[in-house]
Amino acid sequence: MAKHELIPLPYAENELEPVISGKTLSFHHGKHLLAYVNNLNALLPGSGMEDLSIEEIVKKADGGILNNAGQVMNHNLYFKQFRKPQNDNAPAGKLGKLIQEQFGSFEAFKDEFTKKGATLFGSGWVWLSIDKQGKLVITQEPNASNPIQKGLAPLLTFDVWEHAYYLDYQNRRPDHIAALWQIVNWEEIESRIPAL
Ligand code: MN
Repeated sequence: MAKHELIPLPYAENELEPVISGKTLSFHHGKHLLAYVNNLNALLPGSGMEDLSIEEIVKKADGGILNNAGQVMNHNLYFKQFRKPQNDNAPAGKLGKLIQEQFGSFEAFKDEFTKKGATLFGSGWVWLSIDKQGKLVITQEPNASNPIQKGLAPLLTFDVWEHAYYLDYQNRRPDHIAALWQIVNWEEIESRIPAL
């Protein structure tokens, strides 16, 4: 059977500082994500889903397999979307244009995304996705959910589980979300837009 692997980080553990500390990344990637990968590999034998991709498992599974596969898929997209902090970091190209057209401005988009992340009750994820008509959608997804379960293509996500920010920001989730805009790799996000 295919074994799911812990993805390598595409940057050094301290490269996202001061937005995300090396200590947080070390625990978040090396402990939390690793546990979801190991749990998924332990649950899959006998499920009939041993050879499916992570996306196919998330669309099909329920219970413990869905929870762990969802968290593996969510974290893989999350960790791959960052780069070292930049001032005035903003999307350009096709994605920048779509955001401008559909939200009015990048600032208006950030405000709505930030508000949805800050007000998500409990643990979960705020997502920017694109639907099959090419329309951008912001959703709050509880726990391990992913917009792919609703037929959307996931583009950008902020993890608002406390383990993502508590060491660096304690209870200040809105401050953490505000800082994350400095490290979004917008070229990576644009590359996730499926061909229509
Ligand atoms: Mn997490």
